[in-house]
Amino acid sequence: MKKIIAVDGPAGAGKSTVSKIVAARLGYTYIDTGAMYRAVALKVLQSGEPLSESLVGNVDISLDEAARVFLDGREVTKEIRTPEIGLGASDVAKVAYVRKKLTQLQRDMAAHGKVIMDGRDIGTQVLPNADLKIFLTASVEERARRRLDELTAKGLQADFANVVKEISLRDKQDTEREIAPLAQADDAVLLDSTSLTIEQVVAEILRLAKD
Ligand code: C5P
Repeated sequence: MKKIIAVDGPAGAGKSTVSKIVAARLGYTYIDTGAMYRAVALKVLQSGEPLSESLVGNVDISLDEAARVFLDGREVTKEIRTPEIGLGASDVAKVAYVRKKLTQLQRDMAAHGKVIMDGRDIGTQVLPNADLKIFLTASVEERARRRLDELTAKGLQADFANVVKEISLRDKQDTEREIAPLAQADDAVLLDSTSLTIEQVVAEILRLAKD
């Protein structure tokens, strides 16, 4: 079985949903790197200060086995899931010292293997030697529809046109930024989930993960 699995792709492609299921089936640890950028964005927002190297230098971000997210010792799992924090994460993710700090943390988390890590630059930058790399994508409309369902299920207000706008803006920022942009690694397997079910995507990753 492949010990280190990297899953990259644009917002709303289903990376975290399928990665969580694959992790549970294989007994692997799931590492949500987007949650870490979201936690930094929340820290900046709550501090009322502009982003600075010292603010990020002191930040304490951790994930537990249940994929709960902790910022400076406080659980923020739900708080970071708003479209505003998503855009804020995309903003802080452009900054070199933020990426350096989180990339190191992510490599440490993956050091022992048996992990599935999702994000934007996992196969290209964070874990270039991953045993299996997946680039998971879907049409913008399908990704927006899924994101809208997620937000509605959490009782958050959102409308389709705004979700399309937010996702498109994040795709643009994430793809065009200078450092570690969202990109498919040369050796990644492309999976387009537009007309696939969650179970079909999971089955394909499990098939590819077999030695
Ligand atoms: O995956 P999620 O949508 O939660 O990520 C939020 C934002 O964090 C992304 O839009 C992206 O800008 C940033 N991110 C990143 N690199 C990663 C994971 C997330 O730049 N590995």
